[in-house]
Amino acid sequence: MIPDADAPEANAPETEASEEIPMKGKVLIVGGGAMGTCIAMQVASRYDPLEEPVILIERDQLGSGSSGRAGAIVHQTYSERALAGMARDAVRLYHHIQSSTGRSLGLRRTGVLGIVSGSDKEGVAKLDHDLEMQTAIGIKARRVNADEIRKLAPGIEVNDNTVGRFEAEGGYIDPAKAISTFSVLARARGATTRLGVKDLEIEVVDGKVRGAHTASGFFETPNVVLATGSWTASILGKLGVELPLSVVRTEELCLQMPEATQAEEYDDSLEGTSSELETRFRPDPLELVPVPHPVILDLSRGLHAHCEPHTGQTRIGRLGIDAFQGVTDLKNLPKVASEEFQTWARNTLCDRLPMYKDMPVMGSVAHYTAVTKDNRPIVGRVKGIEGLYMVVGFSGSDFHLAPSIGEGMAQMISGEPVTAFDPDFFSAERFAD
Ligand SMILES: Cc1cc2nc3c(=O)[nH]c(=O)nc-3n(C[C@H](O)[C@H](O)[C@H](O)COP(=O)(O)OP(=O)(O)OC[C@H]3O[C@@H](n4cnc5c(N)ncnc54)[C@H](O)[C@@H]3O)c2cc1C
Repeated sequence: MIPDADAPEANAPETEASEEIPMKGKVLIVGGGAMGTCIAMQVASRYDPLEEPVILIERDQLGSGSSGRAGAIVHQTYSERALAGMARDAVRLYHHIQSSTGRSLGLRRTGVLGIVSGSDKEGVAKLDHDLEMQTAIGIKARRVNADEIRKLAPGIEVNDNTVGRFEAEGGYIDPAKAISTFSVLARARGATTRLGVKDLEIEVVDGKVRGAHTASGFFETPNVVLATGSWTASILGKLGVELPLSVVRTEELCLQMPEATQAEEYDDSLEGTSSELETRFRPDPLELVPVPHPVILDLSRGLHAHCEPHTGQTRIGRLGIDAFQGVTDLKNLPKVASEEFQTWARNTLCDRLPMYKDMPVMGSVAHYTAVTKDNRPIVGRVKGIEGLYMVVGFSGSDFHLAPSIGEGMAQMISGEPVTAFDPDFFSAERFAD
């Protein structure tokens, strides 16, 4: 959830909805997570706020869904070209937003180090295959050997035949700051944000969206975008739309971050110059504290770990959504990770990075994420209901894709050719059989 201290100051304030106020809009975006706010930011720039308002409604607070709990690692380690290209664009846009708008996303470029055991022949072949595609589309990443891995992450335990992939541009963002910034930019472009809007019922007449009834009144609009994360299937279910979506429980363990020892220099000739990263704001000094290692994606052991100097913690999670536990009851939101997960995360990390052996547990995070059968989101029009759109099932990859999804949805709704993503790649029609 976005803390009050981060509450944005924009031209039009967010309002707590209390009484019945009928509202008309060109586009109604439901859900104030990473997706909803990113879409609002892009859609708002296409419409006149007086003639064709864009409205975002959220039943709780911005970031109160899974976005607010995410570790929000930003990397470009994708095997599918379409996704890798979107992740590349996200990294660029995040840097651009920070350097051009003067607003922080809490972006910290710690580098991202992927590791594959040399004995994992299939994993090594995949790393090489992916790297070839990634560099061909302009992603600045390179293969590293065991010696280089040890230089990048001093103290790491790897065999001499371990193979790695390093991208210097990657790191993480602060989800609270990012969502706050997306929402400020949306409102600066004329969008309205209304919080605490509960009891959504979408009204469809003759196969077309007419608007949405809520406890705060009726929002009349021909276009509704559902960016409602794990709750999307139940909203669509009420309209008779069934999708192959399920919800899993995602967890992270937080250990105290060790102090950085002097990392050896690495070849940063691929990174671009530091002037590209110059921002108009003074970064939070805590964000600049050196980290003991880059983001670690242990591809053979299915673990990710990243240091957050602004919280003094290292967050550890599982890679690969398939390993997560399915959830059916969305009412009792989890607050902490299971004991079993915490033990696995600590042991697996300490095996790789013994510096964590004596680090105390600082807490844990758990929430839900909507996933699809092929771990690829469903984005676009809802078949059979004109004016209804959905953006769901990101399977834990939202912050990498959100900027392209926002741009592409804005193109789709306003009738422009969709160039920011491939609509067929994300279409629900791929599950038709
Ligand atoms: C522990 C953890 C770690 C993660 N790490 C990463 C990571 O490193 N990188 C990454 O990219 N992703 C990560 N994710 C995944 C990512 O956070 C989520 O999948 C993503 O944020 C979902 O974004 P969203 O906007 O689609 O949904 P949400 O953030 O869940 O937002 C949906 C919003 O819709 C609102 N809503 C729902 N129903 C209604 C309704 N009827 N009316 C009004 N509002 C409604 C909810 O209140 C919520 O605010 C992680 C997730 C977790 C839990």
